[in-house]
Amino acid sequence: MRETIRVETRPTITEFFLTEQRRAPHATGAFTAVINDIRLACKRIAHVVGQGALSGATGAAGSQNVQGETQMHLDVLADEIFVRTNEWGGHLAGLVSEEREEPLLIPGAFPRGPYLLVYDPLDGSSNIDVNVSVGSIFSVLRCPEGVTEPGARDFLQPGTKQVAAGYAIYGPTTMLVLTLGRGTHGFTLDRSIGEFILTHPDMMVPAATREFAINASNERFWEPPVRRYVAECVQGKAGPRGSDFNMRWIASLVAEVHRILVRGGLFMYPRDTKDAAKPGRLRLLYEANPMAMIVEQAGGCASTGRGRLLEIEPSALHQRVPVILGSRDEVERIERYHRDHDAGVEPPTSPPLFHDRSLFTKA
Ligand code: MN
Ligand code: MN
Repeated sequence: MRETIRVETRPTITEFFLTEQRRAPHATGAFTAVINDIRLACKRIAHVVGQGALSGATGAAGSQNVQGETQMHLDVLADEIFVRTNEWGGHLAGLVSEEREEPLLIPGAFPRGPYLLVYDPLDGSSNIDVNVSVGSIFSVLRCPEGVTEPGARDFLQPGTKQVAAGYAIYGPTTMLVLTLGRGTHGFTLDRSIGEFILTHPDMMVPAATREFAINASNERFWEPPVRRYVAECVQGKAGPRGSDFNMRWIASLVAEVHRILVRGGLFMYPRDTKDAAKPGRLRLLYEANPMAMIVEQAGGCASTGRGRLLEIEPSALHQRVPVILGSRDEVERIERYHRDHDAGVEPPTSPPLFHDRSLFTKA
């Protein structure tokens, strides 16, 4: 029997951009061009990542990045791909990468434009050798008026100033998820034609969830409000929440956020007492801010526990922040626990819970 071949009617990402551009009365196309180049960088990285050990690019690069983390070959390669693909287009004034201490100016050979690009070329790269989903994260800012040679200061803008944010996830399928400030939309890479197709329009994070993600091995470093939240969740039906919860931990921010966008949930890398110099694990400009915008645009919340992530005034390019994001009801609950704790209000449950009892042992 002959198979019926149907014409793909869902918009390509190009169609989506142009439709958005026509909606903005004074759009010049510069912005569309920036996102287009990012898309190409993600496709190039998807190809290399998808080759795995065949690419010869796996393993440690034998170097460290500015934050003292081990660089994988693919971290360095993905960064080079981002630079090569985005520097020439004429619409950017500068770039900031997780892998580079200082901002990268657009070389003199190319025209400069009104936007700044901030990115994590390969997120979750410690997972790459075990074939777990990794991704790229990006944020687009406006270059301050009159600035042609942007320095670090020009990139230190709160997340509310982002004009676009997104990530690519290199999993069983490659997807690009992005927001231009009007909802969050997911595109799946059709490898047969090399184009992203709009498969997940208007992604929404459900307000309620019974799933949370946290690195529980850090329990002893958590602050009391986070200990309280997790303790209540793991007590399940018998506890104050009256309901059983599931826990997840992939250790890949992109994969965690993607799961939350698809089916809801809560992700936490909270403030902890492990290292006083680091009030969090994730970086504000190219991890927390873009993910916060994506999650908010999908109806979710993103917080430090003590305030909206997107409103933080950055003080350094590679600044770290606590991140609590996902389903609205749960993020608001954790913010309430922080407020109560800071105001000296004791949780209404029996005190021993928070002293003698840990996540995995019963009192
Ligand atoms: Mn990262
Ligand atoms: Mn990275």
